[in-house]
Amino acid sequence: MARARDPIADLRRIAFLLERANEATYRVRAFRSAAKALAGLSSAELTERAGNGTLTELAGVGDVTARCVAESLAGEEPVYLRRLVATEGSDLDAEATALRAALRGDCHTHSDWSDGGSPIEEMALAAVELGHEYVVLTDHSPRLTVARGLTAARLRQQLDHVAQVNAALPEGFRILTGIEVDILADGSLDQDDELLARLDVVVGSVHSGLKDERSKMTRRMLKAVANPHLDILGHVTGRMVSSRPAGVTGPGDRGHRARTRAESDFDADAVFAACAEHDTAVEINSRPERQDPPKRLIRRALEAGCRFAINTDAHAPGQLDWQRFGCERAALCGVPADRVINTWSAEQLVAWTHDRP
Ligand SMILES: [Zn+2]
Ligand SMILES: [Zn+2]
Repeated sequence: MARARDPIADLRRIAFLLERANEATYRVRAFRSAAKALAGLSSAELTERAGNGTLTELAGVGDVTARCVAESLAGEEPVYLRRLVATEGSDLDAEATALRAALRGDCHTHSDWSDGGSPIEEMALAAVELGHEYVVLTDHSPRLTVARGLTAARLRQQLDHVAQVNAALPEGFRILTGIEVDILADGSLDQDDELLARLDVVVGSVHSGLKDERSKMTRRMLKAVANPHLDILGHVTGRMVSSRPAGVTGPGDRGHRARTRAESDFDADAVFAACAEHDTAVEINSRPERQDPPKRLIRRALEAGCRFAINTDAHAPGQLDWQRFGCERAALCGVPADRVINTWSAEQLVAWTHDRP
């Protein structure tokens, strides 16, 4: 009898749903490792091992994952998956739902080339499954050593690699090249101009000196916003409102440090006025622990005439679906879809980043 379900796809789906629900990393990893271990088996061996109970002899496969595989091979939806699907309901209201539906891509994501947890291919496939037309790969810049920021040489390697991955991805989807470049203390950007000019999208963020005094931080941000290479100003205030999801490490997270962080102090009206003047988009960062900018600042950026990018800042595939959190906050602040740059097609987006003054 023909097999009704693909057990590997079921395991990957479970990993995705767990990750999206912000569950502990070790749980996600259990399913993803099992999927990887089993992907190498022939269908005959898989069926035989499931039949005689020897799946768990394979490294990376435990009792729970083996049970899922057995159920899947029997043509049933695994019980573990069924429970996850039954409880995944999201409570977006109509406006947030419409905004989410209007998004065609994500402009801020990380891979295991810097501090993300998954290969570029895996992130891209998850984005395809979500229905995105593009995802911008924005790994960190050199000075952010704690997040394994990419040197100019490694970024060049990544560009070649992305070109290869793109060639193998489904028609109608592409990875756009990019960077989350550090805004340095003097407001300059932490990567060669020639490379910044070559990338499809440049997100710039402050990751250091977040407690600097107001006038210094304002000068720093104004200089960055006026830089013609900068397309999107990332997580504007740098605040952390709750602990980071388990397993996600990155700038500002050094284990023993406090898990919340106050907003940095700067003249928001001046910065948003500059964003509007230079047509630099303000990011609405969807990460649950960031929720940055806070709603009062989203409203001010909207009044200033800024464009927005609703991004996930995903460091793992399941986090790519966190855009709905950003949409919820954008909708509450009355951000219309036509002010959001990732409602554009990849072509429109890249035309905008390259034509900006
Ligand atoms: Zn960042
Ligand atoms: Zn980031």
